[in-house]
Amino acid sequence: MTSTATGADGAADLPDYAPIPRSALGPALNDQRYYVGRVERNLYWVTDGVYQSAFLTTRDGVVVFDAPASIGNNLRLAVDEIAAANGLPNTVTHFVYSHHHADHAGAASLFGGNVVRIGHEETKHLLVRDNDPTRPAPEVTFTDRYTLDVGGERAELAWHGPNHSPDNIYIHFPGHDTLMFIDVVNAGWVPIYNVNLSEDVPGYMGAPAIALDYPWTHFICGHLGRLATRDDVTVHQQYIADIEASAREALATVDPIPSYMRYGENAWAGVKANLDTVTERAAAPIVAKYTGVLAAADIEIFTYTTTFQIMQSLRLDTGLGVSRPVNP
Ligand SMILES: [Zn+2]
Repeated sequence: MTSTATGADGAADLPDYAPIPRSALGPALNDQRYYVGRVERNLYWVTDGVYQSAFLTTRDGVVVFDAPASIGNNLRLAVDEIAAANGLPNTVTHFVYSHHHADHAGAASLFGGNVVRIGHEETKHLLVRDNDPTRPAPEVTFTDRYTLDVGGERAELAWHGPNHSPDNIYIHFPGHDTLMFIDVVNAGWVPIYNVNLSEDVPGYMGAPAIALDYPWTHFICGHLGRLATRDDVTVHQQYIADIEASAREALATVDPIPSYMRYGENAWAGVKANLDTVTERAAAPIVAKYTGVLAAADIEIFTYTTTFQIMQSLRLDTGLGVSRPVNP
């Protein structure tokens, strides 16, 4: 495909990227711009092609897990469609927060005031702080584990430490062979900026192994247009492990002295020059290796900023390289 002039919107100046691997794409959306599909038995997932949500239909009502702002009222349409098809009540009785972020929970208020909202205690703390009417704080909270039983169906909620966010939980459906764990692995795609906008880098890097410790076949990861598999988690782990190994090598081999010498008393300019050199050295081979494997791997800023965050975590959390002499 050749790019074409597009006039005043400036899109003609935007770069071209490698084709998206077909395996990274999901099912077509309907005319309302959503897709709802069965995960297993009465567990369903909903996507708008970028965000994902899930719900359980039971004889006693519906349990909704996350309500992304971008899916919005289409989540209500999806619940109504499936409940009607199964001859089950469409009343949403319970809502579970995977974590407090507005993009995955901004439609939480759509289900009215009679919903029992459940989340980690830190989710409640953060939602009280955020004071956003679209994300009411959960009334039911837990510290480590919580078992949700509704209409004969079960979800096991667990917190295993901070990762993407301080409050991000694992939601296991033991009767549906499924795990829901949001914003760490993107099915078939690279993480976006800064380790997928994550706060705790060691926690983020360790989380996929915790996810794989659960028994499951289906993985609801929150992004993008399809469900994930155990292979998706493994490829993601390899991408992150490759970045870590590459960052370790770059930290060990890039000599910082020329950067500091170049800028003299402007210490921050020397820091920038050195860290940029390490990041470039570490990230370039990862971009090359994963282009065509993970969608958007060739959007270099994603891998570069993720590499930068991991390299900083290696320095600050593990102490790697920080004892090197920095003054000539
Ligand atoms: Zn998030």
